[in-house]
Order: sequence, then C-alpha cells, then structure tokens
Amino acid sequence: MSEKKDYYEILGVKRNASKEDIKTAYRVLAKKFHPDLNKDNPKLAEEKFKEISEAYEVLVDDNKRARYDQYGRAGVEADFGKEGFSWQNFSHINDLEDIFGHDIFSDFFGRGSIFSDFFGSRVRGYERPERKIKRVQVEISLEQAYRGISTEVAIPHMEKCSECNGSGAEKGTCTKLCYRCDGRGEVKQEQLQGFGRIIKIGACPVCNGRGKIIEKLCQSCHGIGEVQKLDKIKVKIPAGVDNGTALRITPDKSGGRLKEDIYVFISIHPHPVFHRQGNDVYIEKEISLIDAALGSKIEVPTLDGNAMMKIPQGTQTDTLFRLRNSGMPNLRENGQGDQYVRVIVKTPKNLTKRQKELLEEFEKIEKEKKNQ
Ligand SMILES: [Zn+2]
Ligand SMILES: [Zn+2]
Repeated sequence: MSEKKDYYEILGVKRNASKEDIKTAYRVLAKKFHPDLNKDNPKLAEEKFKEISEAYEVLVDDNKRARYDQYGRAGVEADFGKEGFSWQNFSHINDLEDIFGHDIFSDFFGRGSIFSDFFGSRVRGYERPERKIKRVQVEISLEQAYRGISTEVAIPHMEKCSECNGSGAEKGTCTKLCYRCDGRGEVKQEQLQGFGRIIKIGACPVCNGRGKIIEKLCQSCHGIGEVQKLDKIKVKIPAGVDNGTALRITPDKSGGRLKEDIYVFISIHPHPVFHRQGNDVYIEKEISLIDAALGSKIEVPTLDGNAMMKIPQGTQTDTLFRLRNSGMPNLRENGQGDQYVRVIVKTPKNLTKRQKELLEEFEKIEKEKKNQ
C-alpha cells in the first residue's frame, strides 16, 4: 500500500471537491472494495477499504481537511496513532451503516478481521481514549427471527451507590484521608532506567486511588461506590436476522436512556423441526409407502403455518422438494429464501395376515411384469 498517495487521488476527487462529492466517491469505492464482494482477494480489498476510509476520515472533516491541504499528511498525523490510521480512528461508522445496512458488523464480526482493531479497543499510540463497545446478547426463536419482534433488552450500567452516596464506606462509619497519598489518590515512584531515573505516577496502593481509607466497606457496593443497574431498552429486531447479526442502538433510538451505543447480538435457538441454511430452511417429513407409490397431497409445517405439498406418483425416499419463498425473509432486501422438504418413505411394520397376503400378491404381479 503506498503510504504517500494523496487523499484526493485515493478517492478520485478534485482538490476543490464539495463534501457531497467526497461522500459520493466514498460510497462508490466502499461498495467496490467491500471485502465480502472481493472474495478472490479479500486481503487487498481490506487494505483498499482502509485506505479510502482514512482519506474519507480526513477529507470529510473540514478541520482535518484544512490541515491536510496546508501541511499534507504531517498535518493530520497527530490525529492517528504512531502507527498511522487504524479503525479506531474512524469516526464515520454511521456512514458505513448507511451504505451497507445496520448489520454490517455481523459481516465483519463473523470474519473477525477488518474491524478487529476497532472493536479490540486496544489503545494505540498515545493517550487516545479507549473506545468501549457495549454488547448484549439476545436469544430468540427461529419463529421470532422469521417475523421480527419488538423486545426489551436489559442493559447493565454502573450507577452511584445510593447507600453510601458513592463513598464506598458504610453509613456512619469514618473515612480518613489516606496517610500514604494525603488524599491525592496517586503516588510518585522513582525508578532507575538505564542511566536515568524515571518518575512514574500510579494509583496509591494503600487506598487504591480513592484518597480515603474506609474503615468499614459499604455492604451494598462492597466499597466500590457504584452498583450495577439494569436499563430496559425496547429493541426492534427486524425479520430475517441470523445468528451473530449485530444491531446498533444509539442513544437517540433508546429514547435518551442510553449514554453510549449498544450493540445487540442476536443468537437463535436451534429449532427441533426447521434447520436453517442462510435464508433457506430444511425439514424432513415421513410419508407412507402408499402415498409415495400412488401420489398424494400432504400437509407440511412451514414457518408461516401448515401448507399443502404435492407428492407425485412413484416418489423415492430422500427426495428433496422445494417450497418456493417459504424460507426466511431477506434481512437487507425484499424476498425470502425457500423451504426444502426431504421426504422419508416409511416402510409399514406389524402387518396383518391379510396385508401380508396383499403384498405377496403385489410382489407376484411385479415378477410377472418383468417376465413379460
Ligand atoms: Zn455503597
Ligand atoms: Zn492513598
């Protein structure tokens, strides 16, 4: 990847391009370089995707763009870590979601690649604030995934302990200033390194950075000063979601109850009857020897209730029939998958004498047919 390439060149826009031009160019290129659409060389596509995203990050932001125009890459170096642009620096995930739909992350999570450093929340470079992603898991049934549902999700968050008002000390007990750090909560430590000394500032080991010494810990928060509370948030799960689909709930979508984005990961219970493969579903259905030989109409379950299916004369066991558009709905577009029904011909057991006679006669006729 050429490090020196000009951002305008990367996006293929003129230096006086408007913000709209830049957005359009990025949209087109992002679709072109989406790693899932470049199965022959996903690695290269991923690099390209990152390269255009870096250029976009700078050019779509007036401030960064002005610095870039004036000083080139040196003007924006400080925005990215020592190692250069990483996905942690990308602040336009919303735009990607607009382009690819809200489940873009499931694509990437599934592959565990492109956004791994974005979500790995490793801090690169200097004091870049860690970007924490809160995730919760929601388990639903296949029927719920088929229709889509609105459900409540409990989101944990920490709240100041009301028992001790956040002090961590049990009501009425003393807290004293820490003798070690004088209430500052941190201490300096000198260390020899090579020919010099370095001074490290760390949390005070005596008071754990609280600055106070607690005689008796608050029973409710065990001295932490915070307790976990659950926020119930309504989440609309669209029809067609699959295992691993991630839905992002932004604070405004939560009615102001969330302070940060939440990713809701879907997990779907295995179904006793339907087996899903992509948007197709498979079932097995037993039919009688007579239905198989003479042909029949049988009732089969679908995710939308029972349906009638025609069995032609002379059907063999293990034959796969297709019911068009009876599978899972597509998450991103109209239409739906198919349902496949594998029929298993059941051989009759516990025959009566009369039934045996009839079958023996049947066998006799078969032999005569062959000898003709
Ligand atoms: Zn407490
Ligand atoms: Zn202390």
